[in-house]
Amino acid sequence: MSTPESLPALRSSVLTDPGQRRELNEDAVFQSITSYGGLFIVADGMGGHRTGEVASRMAVERIAFYLLESLAPSPHKLLEAFERANEAIFEAAQNPESRGMGTTATALWLDLPYALIGHVGDSRAYLLRGGELSQLTEDHSWVAERLRQGLLTEAEARSHRWRNVITNALGSFPRARIDLIGLKVHPGDRFLLCTDGLSSVVDDRTLQSVLQSFSPEEAAAQLVQLANQWGGPDNVSVAVIGVEALPPSTRPSYGALLEAAPSPIRFQLGDPEPLPTQVMEPARNLWQRWGSWGLLALWLLLVLYLLFVHSR
Ligand code: CA
Repeated sequence: MSTPESLPALRSSVLTDPGQRRELNEDAVFQSITSYGGLFIVADGMGGHRTGEVASRMAVERIAFYLLESLAPSPHKLLEAFERANEAIFEAAQNPESRGMGTTATALWLDLPYALIGHVGDSRAYLLRGGELSQLTEDHSWVAERLRQGLLTEAEARSHRWRNVITNALGSFPRARIDLIGLKVHPGDRFLLCTDGLSSVVDDRTLQSVLQSFSPEEAAAQLVQLANQWGGPDNVSVAVIGVEALPPSTRPSYGALLEAAPSPIRFQLGDPEPLPTQVMEPARNLWQRWGSWGLLALWLLLVLYLLFVHSR
């Protein structure tokens, strides 16, 4: 995206693709360039009967609507936007047809020279700075929690059959655990937001080399292409944002904290009580659904056969 002179020196590209194996795209993406920076969101919905699509769309719309109304970004506003999205999706999910719907959401709110990140679920935000790639967000997933506790290795986590199970989502419960991260942006920083359709098939080294070698527009297209070349098992969404230059610091009230911090910090806002871990099964595909019906039918046949044998 080209930026007129009055807008910040950003280059960005946001793409979403259904991948090679799914008919629907249950991911949703959003981008908007603002006078102070911009807002970028990726969300990965789950739930049967197309409700995953509804949940991810609701998340990006609610978060964007609330944040873009605001002229003075702050971590509190970001928290509120996520809380409101959670409430709205949870309410919609009380409809019997939408039961079980929920979504991840990872939002980058650039309030240059600062960056705020809101995060729920297993989509990711990465930062490429000085040739080094770091993952800014923690995955709220069953395997990532075991990995952090040292109960699984990286290789085991990648192939674990519960690798798609997330432990925190917007809309699944009355309250969600919302991570808020802040950092000072440096000129030349590149941000990547993505859903697990990218991060589960393309490793961090490849992400780093693509982000480093290409413009944001080319990098976004390359990453989607790579996910598809590696089988495209899932919907894939990416947002690549390059900050070319910084405006003079406007020092919002939370900025002093970030000026003093050598690395990204986590804001401790909202409920001081941690929410319990909640396990959410991902939507199963048709084959698995028919697979379980088949198994049930076999059991019924077996029971009928045994009854028949006994009655003779
Ligand atoms: Ca996904």
